[in-house]
Amino acid sequence: MTIESEAQYSFGTKAVHSGAPLDPTTGAVIEPISLSTTFGQSEPAKPLGIYEYSRSANPNRDNFEIAVAALENAKYAIALSSGSATTALVIQSLPVGSHIISGGDVYGGTYRYFTKVGDTHGVQAEFVGNLVEDLSGALKENTKLVWLETPSNPTLQVTDIAKVAEILKEHEAKTGNKVLLVVDNTFLSPYVSNPLSHGADVVVHSVTKYINGHSDVVMGVLATNNADLHEKFRFLQNAIGSIPSPFDSWLAHRGLKTLHLRVGQASASAQKIAEYLVQHPAVLKVNYPGLKSHKNHDVVLRQHRNGLGGGMISFRIQGGAKGAALFTSATKLFTLAESLGGIESLIEVPAVMTHGGIPKEEREANGVYDDLVRVSVGIEDTEDLLKDIEQALEKVSA
Ligand SMILES: *Cc1c(COP(=O)(O)O)cnc(C)c1O
Repeated sequence: MTIESEAQYSFGTKAVHSGAPLDPTTGAVIEPISLSTTFGQSEPAKPLGIYEYSRSANPNRDNFEIAVAALENAKYAIALSSGSATTALVIQSLPVGSHIISGGDVYGGTYRYFTKVGDTHGVQAEFVGNLVEDLSGALKENTKLVWLETPSNPTLQVTDIAKVAEILKEHEAKTGNKVLLVVDNTFLSPYVSNPLSHGADVVVHSVTKYINGHSDVVMGVLATNNADLHEKFRFLQNAIGSIPSPFDSWLAHRGLKTLHLRVGQASASAQKIAEYLVQHPAVLKVNYPGLKSHKNHDVVLRQHRNGLGGGMISFRIQGGAKGAALFTSATKLFTLAESLGGIESLIEVPAVMTHGGIPKEEREANGVYDDLVRVSVGIEDTEDLLKDIEQALEKVSA
């Protein structure tokens, strides 16, 4: 299928069929893995097919990109070797002397790139607590990009993308300065939210998480509807060379075909688990976008498919750091590990694991207390997951 012909289809159909043509030579239903680094030419500069050299383009990477573009309602997608390489490529596309504004609690590696690498390329990053409230005051003459991550990690606060896009449109109308809005959609996946449809210019993903979904590939992708941006990013993808391998592209494409089923199931289970946690006496506070009590639930209803909360939950547990350690060591189905978005349920304590590098005061100002537990809900049976949480909470209460 071509991207154009796909507009009529719904998400699950696009997930299965986008970028997945029958192999033209054998009729294979599943594409072969194209490992060749180079492709033959009939005369100098006349390739036999459409490929020349695998860094520039590769059939498996192309097909994966077509599929992601279809799922993000985008014209173009570009795959990179990791989510972090995707962030790096976007920032490297900016001119020296650029100012960027980022939401405060972005992914740790993104924060590290903005503060320790971006500045060596002459890109200055500024962080604001709340993009909707603080953005207007932070915009400068040389602001070129706004980086937005929603929901935030690990407290799952939701930012109104359309609102931020509107502020930037007003800024452009007033000053003539176009500021790109980039949304990191890793935590929701394209199944739950499509940021481009809410006014973002670029959407980025760590494919490592939900899109691949099987905890066996590190990869990234970005998508956009802007032809000029696409051309710039495509040039950099080849020039920088941080590309995914054909095998990883193939695996990630295979994972993507079941994205709707996996994220639908994880989200349904997470909703039940969050509701269970809310009423448990050993739980102090639950952060979950699917709860009606969530601070930005109105935005969730506008921005997420069917108001889905996604597969990520965080909550504060009784007993401080000890309680969190006891609980996360007592679960049997939730493996104590970093990362998220896979078929298997994971659990972690951000204060000493994913967010251990952030000073305590700064951490706690963002709600990341020693007793905060983060859960990535997998696709195991809901009842089994609930029972596992129940028995682990009993150990904490005892
Ligand atoms: C994991 C992650 C990244 C970085 O992706 P890698 O594939 O690990 O390089 C970026 N943003 C978010 C929200 C993430 O969870």
